[in-house]
Amino acid sequence: MTDPDFFDTPLSHFKGIGPRREQALRRAGLETVEDLLLRLPFRYEDRSTFQPVAGVVEGQRVTVAGELLNCRLRWTGRRGFKIFEALLRDESGTLLVVWPNQPFRQNTLHAHQHVVLHGVAVRYRGVVQLRSPEVEILDVEDGETIHAQRIVPIYEKTGPVTGRMQRALVHDIVRALPAAVTDLLPAEIRARHDLPDRRSALTDVHFPSADVPMAELNAFRSPAHRRLILEEFFLFQCGMLERRRDADREPKAFVPVVDDRVRASARGILPFRLTEGQRRALKEIVDDMQRPRQMNRLLQGDVGSGKTIVALVAGLVAIENGAQVAVMAPTEILAEQHCHTIAALLSATRFKVALLTGSTPAARRRDLFHDVATGAVHLLVGTHALIEEAVSFHRLGLVIIDEQHRFGVIQRARLQEKGLRPDVLVMTATPIPRTLQLTVYGGLDVSVIRGLPPGRVPVRTTVRPEARREEVYAFLKQEMDAGRQACIVYPLVEESEKVDLRAATVMADHLAQDVFRGYRLGLLHGRLTPVAKDAVMRHFAAGEIDLLVATTVIEVGIDVPNATVMVVEHAERFGLSQLHQLRGRVGRGGQQAYCVLIYQQPLSEEAEARLETIANTNDGFVIAEKDLALRGSGDVAGTRQAGMPALRVGNLDRDRDLMEQAARDASSWMTGGGAADEALRTFIRDRWPRQFGLMHVG
Ligand code: ADP
Ligand code: MG
Repeated sequence: MTDPDFFDTPLSHFKGIGPRREQALRRAGLETVEDLLLRLPFRYEDRSTFQPVAGVVEGQRVTVAGELLNCRLRWTGRRGFKIFEALLRDESGTLLVVWPNQPFRQNTLHAHQHVVLHGVAVRYRGVVQLRSPEVEILDVEDGETIHAQRIVPIYEKTGPVTGRMQRALVHDIVRALPAAVTDLLPAEIRARHDLPDRRSALTDVHFPSADVPMAELNAFRSPAHRRLILEEFFLFQCGMLERRRDADREPKAFVPVVDDRVRASARGILPFRLTEGQRRALKEIVDDMQRPRQMNRLLQGDVGSGKTIVALVAGLVAIENGAQVAVMAPTEILAEQHCHTIAALLSATRFKVALLTGSTPAARRRDLFHDVATGAVHLLVGTHALIEEAVSFHRLGLVIIDEQHRFGVIQRARLQEKGLRPDVLVMTATPIPRTLQLTVYGGLDVSVIRGLPPGRVPVRTTVRPEARREEVYAFLKQEMDAGRQACIVYPLVEESEKVDLRAATVMADHLAQDVFRGYRLGLLHGRLTPVAKDAVMRHFAAGEIDLLVATTVIEVGIDVPNATVMVVEHAERFGLSQLHQLRGRVGRGGQQAYCVLIYQQPLSEEAEARLETIANTNDGFVIAEKDLALRGSGDVAGTRQAGMPALRVGNLDRDRDLMEQAARDASSWMTGGGAADEALRTFIRDRWPRQFGLMHVG
């Protein structure tokens, strides 16, 4: 058997895996030998040394070995309840062992067998005994024990497949590994980091030899672990590099030039002086656009930092050069808003702006498609519809995507499938942690707008315990009486969406009927269809709703200048970035705005640190850094997003150092000629998209 065949062998080929277990394994994503081999133990136990039975005391977890004596099935007073019991004898003495309610033990355990037992000692009626231990009968597995007398791997249970069954199955598989296993991690890199080859790593990670320190194993830092994780990350990075090289290889259709005419045109649309931060970011973008290869750039700037105008000036450069621009927003209402803003800014030019969303009527749509295809429309704003439908551009030069985390890598890919190689500029308010720059955003360059436009009134943030809720309500009324609008946001716990929904609905009713009788309330929650959500947001934006009660995070980026108060309930449950995003929804109208964070006791230390940070700073970058420090990247709001690679052995928080290493290794390997390696190329072409799940995002 050649090794790819071996790794692809269905698990049902192994003894003990019938249809029921096969199905359970499949449900857990385990179909082949490789799937199972890469499902690593979640911890290890040292069961290598046996304890003399005479010394065993109550409460102790022990591994003992010896000869079974007096095996018998004992009836108890309770009907049908049987206990299988035996004595275990070693050189120090004997120990009572009981298996309550496991009569089947009599089929396998007999007197004079030599066994290893692993379990917890208890005291019952004054006698110390071992209750329901794991058993390993010696002499059957040609001298090698699996479940004891060694460092033992502990696996998570998968439906009816217990950790113990997996251990036995993995043991069979490891013993059947072909002598030579293809290793895509180059020998040179392995040698540099002093890591084992793939075959040894797969064996050692499941059945470590006695000399591997337990602490290393349980920290996923043994050489075998590091090797397998580095392999996964390395392959991921190589694939990312290949994709990027593909994109770079083909020069883009046209390269804009920036001369005095273009510069004058750009100046003409600016309604205000750009800040220093905006100017710098704009320069990076426009410089990039003038290069022959496709631009893939992230424009990162805090909420309200003025990303739109920067992107629009870049757009104008493209248009002045005879190209078209597409602006994509995650929701219809945001698209409408962008269209409105942009049309106003371009009103003094001869350029035509149009809007395309899911609700654009069919007749209008036909005309629009025509105008886009002929180039009569210069800038088209819209939702996904822009790339999902049969829109064909005359000469698409630049795509601007607002709020990246709503879009997956897929949308970008789809643009390219259409044979389009426009420059791509992605705008986001969430600072991107380093880990994500190495993964989801692996192909992107980053420009950052630092600072906010002048004259901003910072949102005033207060933190209030539940007990002072009445004051908060009174304050809300006061603001609403003055003609302002407000939001109350409840946390959404994914696991209990239903409960949350009920809570918010009940709360909205309570607020509408009792507390805020006479005010106009709107309810926004995750169960609403996108269309219904948009409708609520639209009413809110139009000033037809005074108070918006929302369970889920309010639509990103929505600009309602008249909204001045954001109340966050259970603020202790929100992440820092989330709180910052929420706060950014108010204070866009030039009047003093407020963010009130209501928390419930008890407050964890971490929650307290979060609330303190958010109350003390309005700087998104400071907040993002603090957030990372408090809880690690994988969890930062908006990062469990489309485009995260599916990882089997690595973990982006725990193994960030290895991801950085892998990025460096992959880059030097690929540029140093490694890209020509046939096995690696085949992997990237045939397996990479499926393995990392990047085909299914969006
Ligand atoms: P965001 O980065 O959150 O998308 P916007 O682009 O919507 O921010 O800008 C927020 C507000 O700030 C807008 O009303 C915009 O007109 C205004 N603005 C942007 N840049 C400047 C500037 N340099 N001077 C004054 N106002 C600005
Ligand atoms: Mg914006």
